Amino acid sequence: MCIFCKIVDGEIPSNKVLENEKFLAFHDINPAAPIHILVIPKEHIESFQEADSQTIAEMTPFIQELCSKIGLDKNGYRLITNIGEDGGQEVKHLHIHVLGGGKLIWKHYQESDPHKNI
Ligand code: 5GP
Ligand code: ZN
Repeated sequence: MCIFCKIVDGEIPSNKVLENEKFLAFHDINPAAPIHILVIPKEHIESFQEADSQTIAEMTPFIQELCSKIGLDKNGYRLITNIGEDGGQEVKHLHIHVLGGGKLIWKHYQESDPHKNI
């Protein structure tokens, strides 16, 4: 069972922010922003690439509710989902990073000249 499935099952503790029958939002253990929350489907789906459109559609109001609940809707936030090897996905269970709580640096993911990266 993957680490996020264990969080869903309560086998690994997490700092939950919002939950419904299909999705769970909890604080990232190693935050990359003042607020860094992960949103996952309770069902194991490897990544966005394997997700069905209904799941992605249903995540939308869940994330909007989450961001309203914690006040991120006022000044904005960023959503990121890493996919596979090149995307830098470490946990192979679909998750959307919700980042906010301050002005976020943009293009921080570029380690060098983008024209030389690929
Ligand atoms: P990825 O690199 O796969 O897009 O992101 C995985 C994220 O999961 C990372 O930001 C990492 O800090 C977070 N993470 C990994 N293990 C745990 C854990 O056991 N609990 C929590 N809350 N976050 C975790
Ligand atoms: Zn899983």
